[in-house]
Amino acid sequence: MKTYPKENLSIVWEAEKCQHSGICIKLLPKVYNPRERPWIKQENATEEEIIKQVKQCPSGALSIKYHEK
Ligand code: SF4
Repeated sequence: MKTYPKENLSIVWEAEKCQHSGICIKLLPKVYNPRERPWIKQENATEEEIIKQVKQCPSGALSIKYHEK
């Protein structure tokens, strides 16, 4: 499991759940690029955009973890 922190939340990615459907890459190509390392560049989208996109991940490999205040 890897986490990619932003201001108020982190993107969580569980590689073993990923079905490689490519939906994340299609929706937010500036953030998700499997040819680059790190493959997730969370700084390239707003938190709102990321929340919306993570909901579309069909496998549950991507999720959001909200930071404690
Ligand atoms: S949308 Fe989810 S299942 Fe599809 S490639 Fe991205 S992380 Fe993997």
